[in-house]
Amino acid sequence: MRKKFIGANWKMNLLYEEAIKLFADLSNSTLNTSEADIVVFPSSIYLSELSKMPGLPVGAQDLYFADSGAFTGGIAARQLKSISCKYVLVGHSERRITFFETDEVINLKLKSAVRNDLKVVFCCGESLGIRESKKHLEFVTNQLMQGWKDLDETEMKNCIIAYEPIWAIGTGLNASKMEIEEMHGTIRRTVASCFSHSLSQSIRIVYGGSCNQHNASDIFSFNDVDGGLIGGASLEFDSFEKIIKSL
Ligand code: PEP
Repeated sequence: MRKKFIGANWKMNLLYEEAIKLFADLSNSTLNTSEADIVVFPSSIYLSELSKMPGLPVGAQDLYFADSGAFTGGIAARQLKSISCKYVLVGHSERRITFFETDEVINLKLKSAVRNDLKVVFCCGESLGIRESKKHLEFVTNQLMQGWKDLDETEMKNCIIAYEPIWAIGTGLNASKMEIEEMHGTIRRTVASCFSHSLSQSIRIVYGGSCNQHNASDIFSFNDVDGGLIGGASLEFDSFEKIIKSL
């Protein structure tokens, strides 16, 4: 039985006071449950303070792959560890598209994160054009294999995979049950063929893309869906609490 995972990806939203209040409200509510790992991914400038507050674990939205050095603006895995940050997102489509991150860079980030003992939410997903050309399964399989290149099974145990079709992120569009189950099944089979059957059964695969309080319980009930990565709907206490409750 895989433990559910729900990540709140706040992206570049919330001012300082708003972030502190939302985090405190979430931490004080009953959503701090043992049935699921619930993790908040705030802007990195708030990580240090939030990680000292009681309650939910926090994760970074990005890292740089070097351990230290002349990389202005970068944040190293070791620095994240030093402020008790436990998780990091790698390969989010907004990083891939807006910040031009290639599969090669994502692979370096993934390796740096797991080798420094951070848990990684490794994101993958296709554009609408790729889905329409019916190459989505092949495309996502390739993204995964490039991303986890050179990682071994023990290192992969620190990963959660988030399938986030780009056309569903922030658009209000959702992938259908059939589309989600087909992709999550393909991802699990790819983990089995690249690593082991046992890892494919224990690794968590979550869905992201316009998940909200109205559709979450349906999405979380689909085969092979172990929770969600939530963007817009995680920015308000009420909607995020309803998503957690729908577990
Ligand atoms: C995301 O970007 O990870 C995401 C799932 O966003 P949204 O829920 O807003 O579509």
